[in-house]
Parts: sequence; C-alpha cells; structure tokens
Amino acid sequence: MYGEFKNYLQKELKAIEDAGLYKKERMICSPQGAEITLADGSKALNFCANNYLGLADNPRLIEAAKKAMDERGFGMSSVRFICGQQDLHRELEKAIAKYFHTDDTILYAACFDANGGVFEPLLTADDAIISDSLNHASIIDGVRLCKAVRYRYANADMEELEKCLQEAQAQRFRIIVTDGVFSMDGNVAPVDKICDLAEKYNALVMVDESHSAGVVGKTGRGVAEQFNCYGRIDIHTGTLGKSFGGAVGGFTTGRQEIIDMLRQRSRPYLFSNSLPPMICGAGIELFKMLEESDEIHARQQENVEYFRTRMLAAGFDIKPTQSAICAVMLYDAPLSQKFAAEMAQEGIFVTGFYYPVVPKGQARIRVQISAAHNREQLDTAIAAFIKVGRKLGVLK
Ligand SMILES: *Cc1c(COP(=O)(O)O)cnc(C)c1O
Repeated sequence: MYGEFKNYLQKELKAIEDAGLYKKERMICSPQGAEITLADGSKALNFCANNYLGLADNPRLIEAAKKAMDERGFGMSSVRFICGQQDLHRELEKAIAKYFHTDDTILYAACFDANGGVFEPLLTADDAIISDSLNHASIIDGVRLCKAVRYRYANADMEELEKCLQEAQAQRFRIIVTDGVFSMDGNVAPVDKICDLAEKYNALVMVDESHSAGVVGKTGRGVAEQFNCYGRIDIHTGTLGKSFGGAVGGFTTGRQEIIDMLRQRSRPYLFSNSLPPMICGAGIELFKMLEESDEIHARQQENVEYFRTRMLAAGFDIKPTQSAICAVMLYDAPLSQKFAAEMAQEGIFVTGFYYPVVPKGQARIRVQISAAHNREQLDTAIAAFIKVGRKLGVLK
C-alpha cells in the first residue's frame, strides 16, 4: 500500500514546492534572542520571534526553571484529575488570574489546546459562536469541535458583528470571540466596542491574548487594561510561548464557573499531560518579575516607537500598529520574498508574508520588535531596510 501513498505524497509535496510554499526551517545553534548564531557559526539579528519581552533566555527564568526541576522533578507523567497537581500548577494559575484581574485560571500544554478545548464543554447546538474572520487557526479548530451555530464577521468590523449578534438572538447563549492583537497587521481588536455590543445583545466575550499579553495596555496586561474593560471580558486565553518566557504552555483565565466547568469537561486538559514543574516554576517567577516592575514592557514599547518613527521617516509604508508587530507593506508577493531574502543576506531575519496568509495584493514584511533589541540592533535593522528598499526600488 505505501508505494501508492508515497507517490501521492511526493506529488503533493512537489506541488507545494512548485507553488513556492514549502516551509524550510533555519538551524539556530544558540539560545533564542535578539542576536542568534546559526549552524555555520554566522550571526543574525532576529526580528521574527514572538519574544516580545526578550525573556526567552532570561537568567532569572532559567534559574527558576532549574530550581523547580531540582525540587519537583522533570515531569508529571499524568494528567491532573488522575494523579493530582503540584503546588506549582495552582500557584501559576493564581498568578495568571492576578495578572489579568480574573477569578481563576486553567493551564494547558499550549494555547492551541486552550482554544481547542474551550468551546465544546461550554456550548451546545442551541448556542452561537461569533468569530472574527482573522482569528487564529486554533480558535477556528476549537469552533469546529463544538456544535454551536457559527457566525463570522470581517476583521474588527463592528457593523457586521452587530448584524451577527442580531441574527444570533435565535440561539440560547452567544459568545463573541476575537484575537486581542491580529498577528498580520498588528492591530488591536476594538474590545471596548465589542463589550458594548455584547452588553447590548446579551453575549459573552472571549479574547485570545496570545499577541496582546505583555505588550498591549499601559503596563502590558492586555486588552482589558488597554480599554479599561476589566470585568467585561468573560474568558481570556493566552500562551506562555510568546511574551511570557517563550517556552511552552497555554491557559484560559476568566470567570470562576467557566474555569470550573473546563476542569471537568475540557478534553485537551483531561486527556493530555500536565505542564512540567520547570515551566510552572519559571512562569511563577515571570509573573513576579512583571509585578515588580514595568521596565521590560516599557522598553519594548519604546523600541516599537523608535523603529516605527524611523521607518516612516525613511519612507516606508507601515500599517498603524498598537502592538509589537510592524507590517512593512510591499503589496507585491514576489517582492516580499525577495526583500526578506535580501534582509537575511544583511543578517536580519524578518518574514515576508503573502496570499493566502494575508489578502491578495497585501504582501508585506512582518517585523516583530522585542524588549531585547538594543538601539544599535534597531539601527542596524533600519539601515538594512533602507539599503534593501533602495536596491529593490521600494524607496526612491
Ligand atoms: C501563537 C498563538 C496561539 C498558539 O499558542 P501556543 O501556546 O503556541 O499553542 C494561539 N492563539 C494565538 C492568537 C496565537 O497567536
């Protein structure tokens, strides 16, 4: 049998490659950071990681992870309802709830699992899920696993959302679901308006804070802080794999009864291993650090401002951003790939995105700014952008 299947896969893989969509993975031989070392020993500046607070190689977190491993071992070898949890799991859940001003938190192996396991336990075929069209793949998959009636509105379009809410009055319960920050444009969801509409039309609100947590809001506490929507958002999901240290792990945080029900019924929680002690130990330390001082977050914001201002002055077309994501618009797909390749030649890693990841004719370079970047590194990246921009005729 495999011969036939192998031929089929080879053809499909060739088609992916011919379409220029084959994903290749770089080999990094250093910790993740602003500057990384590649397999051939060369160095590059990294502007395509979700390492927004620059904590992926933070010594305090590494130390806390080691300490947790020494004191609580390497792994849990089970799920929590069968074998129990460690004190560290509860401590981390409480720290996350404190950070987001919510009642309680439930941990998952990843935010992909948090989103995959949030709808099905809470909603039935009698209910409605109203989802932003640009929501993350894991939300889309989570919605697919649930029998609720689905509604979709154009990205951040409040008129369309209102229409969906009117139609969804036919269902018993309604939930509006949105990413906090959309990863391709760097725009923040208008969560204040979403909450207004939710109240007008009697709906719950869920925000995926994966790209917004640690970045958006006066002290980085996400969209509730940004829009002063505390108490108006029922569910937040998020990841420990971006701002919050960059290792792995996800969570859902929100109203008590919602978290209680997820602990009883959420399949990725019930049937997948508990987070290892080192992740919990480092996570607890992380939220301690973020409670102590806003310095890292403030530096991240300054860096975005520095980069944006200089890139705009150089003549680049940048989508307005309120996050750590700067979309440098090139519009043309082949140009975006050429531009990213030329930047790599200059030792700067950025990603070129084009259709179908972004709409047709909206190709761009996505730059992700971190607190870890120093001024010299930002200047180096800007100089490379200007050099490549002139060479490829993007700048006059
Ligand atoms: C990255 C991301 C996820 C997935 O997070 P993991 O913890 O890596 O699984 C989910 N939702 C959004 C919006 C994301 O950006």
